[in-house]
Amino acid sequence: MQRTLAILKPDCLEKRIQGKVIQHILDAGFEIRGMKLLRLSRESAGRFYEIHKEKPFYNDLIDYMTSGPVIPICLEKENAVADFRKLIGATNPANAEDGTIRKLYAESIERNIVHGSDSPENAVKEISHFFTDGDFI
Ligand code: ATP
Ligand code: MG
Repeated sequence: MQRTLAILKPDCLEKRIQGKVIQHILDAGFEIRGMKLLRLSRESAGRFYEIHKEKPFYNDLIDYMTSGPVIPICLEKENAVADFRKLIGATNPANAEDGTIRKLYAESIERNIVHGSDSPENAVKEISHFFTDGDFI
């Protein structure tokens, strides 16, 4: 079994489709081990996206990720990291495969509904950004 971190981003909650997206994730066979509803501070969002600090879109990304509440979810499944990336689709919804969450619901490369960890190592780090041992079911 492997764990990965999903975040339902502010545009997902703005559109009030968090229920649909969670159902999509459950239908794909993922178990929810932890889930929170919170608003990221600029400091916390900045740390989470530290790898993108030098990118031209970094400031806009932090503005967007702190613009409203988010739902971080710790998911578990065999091959969870790669399978979840497949389920959400390409960063830019225009390039995402049919049936993926981003193809179905995302409006742009920035406002793309959902985050998914991109490697098992990053999944461990990212899960610990939001959850501690006592949080898991
Ligand atoms: P995430 O890390 O959120 O799962 P990802 O791994 O598909 O997405 P990254 O390259 O890690 O994509 O980029 C992180 C986030 O930054 C993207 O999900 C998107 O919200 C935003 N982003 C990425 N590239 C761009 C861009 N060229 N212009 C604007 N925003 C971008
Ligand atoms: Mg990423």
